[in-house]
Amino acid sequence: MDKLDMYINGNWVAPASGEYFETFNPFTGRPWAMVARGSEVDAEQAVEAANSALVNPAWADITATQRGAMLRRLGDIAAKNAERLGKLEVQDNGKLIAEMGMQTQYLPQWYYYFGGLADKVEGSVLPIDKPDTFTYTRNEPLGVCVLITPWNSPLMLLAWKLAPALAAGNTVVVKPSEFTSASTLEFAKLVEEAGFPKGVFNVVTGFGKEAGEPLVTHPRVAKVAFTGGALSGAHVYQKAAKGLKKVSLELGGKSPNIIFDDCSMDNAVKGAISGIFAATGQTCIAGSRLLVQRSIHDEFLDKLVTFAKTAKMGDPMLRDTQVGPVTTQPQYEKILNYMEVAREDGAECLLGGGKAERPECGGGWFVEPTIFSGVDNKMRIAQEEVFGPVLSVIPFEDDDDAVSIANDVVYGLASGVWTGNIRRAIEIPQRIKSGTVWVNTYRAVSYVAPFGGYKQSGLGRESGQRAIEEYMQTKTVWVSTATETPNPFVMR
Ligand code: NAD
Repeated sequence: MDKLDMYINGNWVAPASGEYFETFNPFTGRPWAMVARGSEVDAEQAVEAANSALVNPAWADITATQRGAMLRRLGDIAAKNAERLGKLEVQDNGKLIAEMGMQTQYLPQWYYYFGGLADKVEGSVLPIDKPDTFTYTRNEPLGVCVLITPWNSPLMLLAWKLAPALAAGNTVVVKPSEFTSASTLEFAKLVEEAGFPKGVFNVVTGFGKEAGEPLVTHPRVAKVAFTGGALSGAHVYQKAAKGLKKVSLELGGKSPNIIFDDCSMDNAVKGAISGIFAATGQTCIAGSRLLVQRSIHDEFLDKLVTFAKTAKMGDPMLRDTQVGPVTTQPQYEKILNYMEVAREDGAECLLGGGKAERPECGGGWFVEPTIFSGVDNKMRIAQEEVFGPVLSVIPFEDDDDAVSIANDVVYGLASGVWTGNIRRAIEIPQRIKSGTVWVNTYRAVSYVAPFGGYKQSGLGRESGQRAIEEYMQTKTVWVSTATETPNPFVMR
């Protein structure tokens, strides 16, 4: 099996422990490579490399325009390697080749956008209220940033952090998920080809506690940007708080997708399906609570189930596969367990509800696309993030009822509204407590559109112009133009 080493200070480095762990192909359920098991020693090396790179003139002294050009070159190189990166992700993550094709072609846009933004972050000259004084602000990088990513969309979620972090002039240590490290390591080769100096970009692989936590707590780390589950997010937040580090968090969701009786039903059915079954439901923005107005409830569910049954499962490497495997074995078991919890709590299973034991699913971790109806919003299946292709259908009466159910969760990442009524299309998004609301569409994201959570779905925003500020700090400079410094004992 291939052995994947870490990337530290421009070198491929074996783990200090000498240990490697298996990474699996979710379609076969078998390991295909060994990944370096990083520890505190490796984390220390990587942070030292990133810290030294901060003062290396090859990085510290180049202009923002030159940094931007480097990022745009990285975008070009990523575009050239899109297909190869996509196939690697399918092998390691089980994502559909069709989805990865789109994702890797779109990914370079983050590098182009933030590359373009690098030399457009301006300070200001302040109209200061003191005589003989010239006061201005400048925006400076934070320093060493630790970027921690989950397994569900490793390259995309890396781009959301890496592009603004480098555009702002920081250096980074990336800790990809222990389940999907291969694509981030492959990406390191592209960063090197783009000409970033040694130590600006480092990758430490391994488990959260062993490899991630020493990065989060390292005194030389200025910022932690984390995407992952709410529990680990809260833990990382506490650890980082001890060192008073800047933190941004992109966490989980339990997003409501609200179907009003005046919507185009055919469109809304497609929106509900893509909301929950795309990426096998393993997305933070999954529209996992489908709120359906009671007056159209039964008719809508008939159409929904009929459409959901057409999903073609199987080998994610085949272009026509529509629902692939679950990425990890623990996640597979967790989803199956939630199906039992839903039944025990009284939900009615309309579709699926268990393992997918179809010949086309090989030996992999497949679950059936699943729809539960009769769900009460208080049930665990409606409150907890399943992170799989499991939809909970909840009926509602009117606008107030819909908004109240939609907001009655600890999360607030995203939501959907399906309506043909202009008043609802404007008013309902204003009443929903989530960082993104889609009206008559679902799942759209863009490098120009801020993305992030309300409530326990996170802190800070990724993408959009302001995202670069999450990786910068403002300095105010006071310059006296007075010819004589006044006597400090005489109050003025
Ligand atoms: P996870 O929290 O288990 O792991 C995420 C990352 O954190 C991994 O790299 C892991 O090794 C690391 N980690 C775990 N414990 C750590 C610790 N103590 N110190 C440092 N690092 C640690 O999440 P996951 O299972 O990989 O991903 C799924 C979760 O991610 C879901 O909850 C999903 O909603 C969320 N997610 C959120 C977004 C978003 O943008 N809001 C996007 C994708 C996924």
